[in-house]
Amino acid sequence: MKLRETARFSTICIHAGQVPDPSTGAIITPIYQTSTYVQEALGQHKGYEYARTQNPTRAALEANIAAIEGGKAAFAFASGMAAEGAVMTLLQSGDHVVVTDNTYGGTYRLFERVLRRYQLDFTYVDSSKTGDIASAIRPETKLLFLETPTNPTLRLTDLAAACEVAHRRNVVVAVDNTFASPYVQRPIDFGADLVIHSTTKFLNGHSDSVGGVVVATRDDHIEWLRFIQNAEGAIIGPMDAWLVLRGTKTLPIRMERHNANAMALAEFLASHPKVAQVHYPGLAAHPQHALAKKQMRGFGGLISFALGSLERARTLLNNVRLMALAESLGGVETLISHPATMTHASVPPERRQQIGITDDLVRVSVGIEDVDDLKEDLANALSAV
Ligand SMILES: *Cc1c(COP(=O)(O)O)cnc(C)c1O
Repeated sequence: MKLRETARFSTICIHAGQVPDPSTGAIITPIYQTSTYVQEALGQHKGYEYARTQNPTRAALEANIAAIEGGKAAFAFASGMAAEGAVMTLLQSGDHVVVTDNTYGGTYRLFERVLRRYQLDFTYVDSSKTGDIASAIRPETKLLFLETPTNPTLRLTDLAAACEVAHRRNVVVAVDNTFASPYVQRPIDFGADLVIHSTTKFLNGHSDSVGGVVVATRDDHIEWLRFIQNAEGAIIGPMDAWLVLRGTKTLPIRMERHNANAMALAEFLASHPKVAQVHYPGLAAHPQHALAKKQMRGFGGLISFALGSLERARTLLNNVRLMALAESLGGVETLISHPATMTHASVPPERRQQIGITDDLVRVSVGIEDVDDLKEDLANALSAV
């Protein structure tokens, strides 16, 4: 089981980073639940000394995701936020970062409440406008931090154009690719230097683990991230690494179904008289549909739609039966949520309005159930609205 250079995406997902276990031949990389490794003699060991620094299950996951994203190396962390925290240690006080204005709420909190204390400065821009990115870059700008599509309004950033603008000014580009998943979009193919994931979402895909990963392309970044992963120690545990490794094997077929189900539900909602507006990059009416076709494979598993009022949104949310009312996304089961009071409750109301998170907006992380059951569930709940 040695992967050829020419191996294709699904094959990479299943095999990259994994060889039969050297001691038994087990086809699946075991959960190496150990804290330390016995040395044969002083200074003689198998490359494993202490489990914060090295763990074979984690190493398999890291090699697997590096290959999936088309990067050179990956580093797995205890959560998506720990992965983001590690990336931000590439910066020093006085540095400036340009950020997509509608990032994941936890990203905004990390930057504003934690990293500002260390004299990092942030400017939030509508990164769907490449010109706005360019004009926010200053001499001290060191990082462009992008998220596309955004949550929950599904606005896109032109990755190739943004990377070009940033690189011309020597600015490193990091992309939070959690929402799309690497099946749908591979930012490194468009020039990104770093890719971040909350593995909690599509990569694991089964709503049973929390983790994060950073994929890097540059040797200086790889050297630093390896150092900081050990120095700060926010590593993913072996059980979680194993669960994500199990998840990535089925990423392509899960994403095909997420894409297809989301497309079908978006079309159903767009033609429903009680729905005011649907946000989904796969709809021809989406303002960036052409860009979506250019940089995404399928259009992802998330849709959001407006119902006209908070009351109507509440009625819908209280009347779905199959869809579970919950935060998070990317699992095989469909989750439905109310961004204004759930995931984005900590965002001030004026700012929520600015970025389009109205009180009547509902978000669905479309799972891989039979799409007719999902449609029926929405149709029933809409009839109560
Ligand atoms: C969930 C999420 C994170 C944070 O990941 P955790 O695993 O919850 O720490 C970061 N970015 C995006 C886009 C997410 O959806």
